[in-house]
Amino acid sequence: MSNEQLDLLREQLDELNMDLLNLINKRGELVKKVAKSKPNQGPDKKYDPVREHQMLEKIKNQNEGPFQDATIIHLFKEIFKAGLELQEKDYHKEMLVSRKRKSEDTIIDINGEKIGDGQPHFVCGPCAVESYEQVRKVAEQIKKHGLNIIRGGAFKPRTSPYDFQGLGFEGLEILRRIGDEFDLAVVSEIVRPQDMEQAAEYLDMIQIGARNMQNFELLKAAGEVDKPIILKRGMSATVSDFINAAEYIHSKGNSNIILCERGIRTYETSTRNTLDITAVPILKQETHLPVMVDVTHSTGRRDLLIPAAKAAIAIGADAVMAEVHPDPAVALSDQQQQMNFEQFDAFMEAVRK
Ligand code: PEP
Ligand code: MN
Repeated sequence: MSNEQLDLLREQLDELNMDLLNLINKRGELVKKVAKSKPNQGPDKKYDPVREHQMLEKIKNQNEGPFQDATIIHLFKEIFKAGLELQEKDYHKEMLVSRKRKSEDTIIDINGEKIGDGQPHFVCGPCAVESYEQVRKVAEQIKKHGLNIIRGGAFKPRTSPYDFQGLGFEGLEILRRIGDEFDLAVVSEIVRPQDMEQAAEYLDMIQIGARNMQNFELLKAAGEVDKPIILKRGMSATVSDFINAAEYIHSKGNSNIILCERGIRTYETSTRNTLDITAVPILKQETHLPVMVDVTHSTGRRDLLIPAAKAAIAIGADAVMAEVHPDPAVALSDQQQQMNFEQFDAFMEAVRK
């Protein structure tokens, strides 16, 4: 074969490459159009194995070689996969919590605290509501530091069934009384969908705990109440799982959601959980929701609360959660990491610098 003939063949190959490129992209555009005609469907729904099988059969039957059927099927499967990936990207853009869907920051106004306004906010209080007296003492300290929100668990999801499970609705009543007496917004965790509505009568903000991040019925119930939700990241949840959990709440009509990074399980044992600090800017980029960091449950260590809170604020967290108790040594839960009042003073002073 002469050099000229070879060049000619190569030229034809180049042209075919360009034709293939245009056809593949044209196919991509069509796939996107099909996806748009099915709005608000998750990535699973977009994959239709029956339809894919039909298309592959048709292609195989028309194949005249020189490629073998198996090779052709392999190539087309890759093209289909790329199409699905395109649809998945579009799904993320379509999500209600997505920054691509709404570019402005969501700001949650709770008792004068505008969480998401660019200033750091604090949600502090005991791990568990133990008594009126105990919460009152903490409320005094919270007021002393000019804070406007108090937290306290009344339904405690404990690892052991024999550990203190919380005071239940009696605990919520105590919180409400304190909230009214001290002009504090009150936050507590709710663990059952059927309690959501009643709990909303006592609480200004409802927490969904790490262990319940993928309790989808609870998420849907949270989406139906007219209160802001603090959604904590599950200890083995990816950022994508976390965002999808928030989407569950938003999809039911409640857009007031604060995402709380509280550490994930890793092989590291020097802290209770591993604080995934870069999740904060990732969540801020991917969603329009305010992001909080719980320094108590992530580190599980009193000596790390100040540096962890400083890191959280430095990396862009909108709020910090920390636990404080009048006498942590006798606390009914989390004795190891709750601050006493002196430590709380030092904490507030250090993080506000
Ligand atoms: C809590 O904040 O009281 C709590 C139990 O935290 P988590 O769900 O993050 O473990
Ligand atoms: Mn706790």
